[in-house]
Amino acid sequence: MKNIRLSALQENERTVIQVGHVRVGGGFCIIAGPCSVETEKQTVETAVAVRDCGADMLRGGAFKPRTSPYAFQGLGLKGLKILKKAREVTGLPVVTEVIDTRDVPWVAEYADVLQIGARNMQNFSLLKEVGKTQKPILLKRGMNSTIEEWLNCAEYILDGGNPDVILCERGIRTFETYTRNTLDISAVPALKELTHLPVIIDPSHACGRLSLIPALGLTAVASGADGVMVEVHVNPPEAICDKEQALTPVQFKAMAEKMRSLHQFVAGAL
Ligand code: PEP
Ligand code: MN
Repeated sequence: MKNIRLSALQENERTVIQVGHVRVGGGFCIIAGPCSVETEKQTVETAVAVRDCGADMLRGGAFKPRTSPYAFQGLGLKGLKILKKAREVTGLPVVTEVIDTRDVPWVAEYADVLQIGARNMQNFSLLKEVGKTQKPILLKRGMNSTIEEWLNCAEYILDGGNPDVILCERGIRTFETYTRNTLDISAVPALKELTHLPVIIDPSHACGRLSLIPALGLTAVASGADGVMVEVHVNPPEAICDKEQALTPVQFKAMAEKMRSLHQFVAGAL
């Protein structure tokens, strides 16, 4: 099956998605923030810290797709309002996940980019619904999905009338247990061959280990990715969700600086 809309642009023509002042696909974009929105203080402090340390956009989940029904599910609407506040304070556009078709209209009202998480990549009703919005969609790769399946999901969104899809590789399930998932770095050049859409890497969920994240971020740059999305918390030991992979602002700053300088070099080489 041919992905009609994914191959509709001219050869070498790439989609660049404007999100506020950020051009995704037109440079190296860094999205950073907590796994989840916990409190206004935690979110706004993290937002200010990541902006000052080099982020272009803020991430943070108000609706969390959790493996256990007893784990923190997110603050919902209250979380969206906190994200809005964080955007007002920092000027950073906000990326946040939508997990239910019924929530799409109001998540679209508060967010600058709607995230479809790995667990919902093939939720076709949700893909059709976000395809009707005017907001860019960050589509994560399902942890058990092939590149072809992933592209068909992007095609659903494009076919629904929304041309602005950012693909996010976040690791796939393999037999390896040391890392949370296995980062499929070859997906980046493969997608560059197969589509005109921007491609970013999420090193945090890919490895789930703080110590490995900076190296994966540099790998993302070297592979030709258009950006990264990384989890940062002002106080990682206190993070409600994914604390073992949350960078401190200081760690994030060092990683962001290295990625930017490598990008300067790589942009000329690729
Ligand atoms: C997230 O980015 O908050 C998230 C839940 O990631 P994933 O869907 O990749 O597991
Ligand atoms: Mn997380």
